[in-house]
Amino acid sequence: VDFKNYGLSEDLLKALSGLAYDTPTEVQDQVIPQALMNKDLVVKSQTGSGKTASFGIPICEKVLWEENKPQALILTPTRELAAQIKEDITNIGRFKRIKATAVYGKQPFQRQKLELKQKSHVVVGTPGRVLDHLEKGTLSTQKLDYLVIDEADEMLNMGFIDQVEAIIQKLPKDRATYLFSATLPEDIEALSRNYMRQPLHIEI
Ligand code: AMP
Repeated sequence: VDFKNYGLSEDLLKALSGLAYDTPTEVQDQVIPQALMNKDLVVKSQTGSGKTASFGIPICEKVLWEENKPQALILTPTRELAAQIKEDITNIGRFKRIKATAVYGKQPFQRQKLELKQKSHVVVGTPGRVLDHLEKGTLSTQKLDYLVIDEADEMLNMGFIDQVEAIIQKLPKDRATYLFSATLPEDIEALSRNYMRQPLHIEI
């Protein structure tokens, strides 16, 4: 398998070869083609499997550079993960000039508000701070076509699941949703039943 098989743009293929991503990992090979076809996905996979790029690649491929409002929202349990995902998206979208913004707690709200006012294609954040921005109207949901719920079981363990649900309820219904989790407890299955469109289940 080769990244070229997915019909990705030259901008992305160039970035992937610069990152020395020569061959897709298993999760990438399962997820990328389906995500490019706009399927909702529930993916059972571990960290270290290359899952960040499995959603980062199709999102970078699909967002429109010209659009000023955020088009993808990625929810993740920790600040460290949010910063890492922002960096990965920036690297994958380098030649397309994709702008990613990270929003998380313990960092000035005001600075994030200013950053969100600039063009930001992808927003990555922890649930509490994302909800805060949504409630204060500093994060626009109008053009949010893609939602990623990353490490869903971790967010459940950390007590963030109600915030995740409150966020989902504020998003446009006409969107694609990708849920990633190492385990699928009932609360996570319920989220996928209630808020996703007949998701395809992928297990790595
Ligand atoms: P993740 O599971 O997303 O945390 O990724 C684990 C590590 O694998 C990260 O350091 C990525 O940069 C790296 N990686 C992701 N996809 C590939 C690939 N196709 N080829 C080589 N390395 C990769």
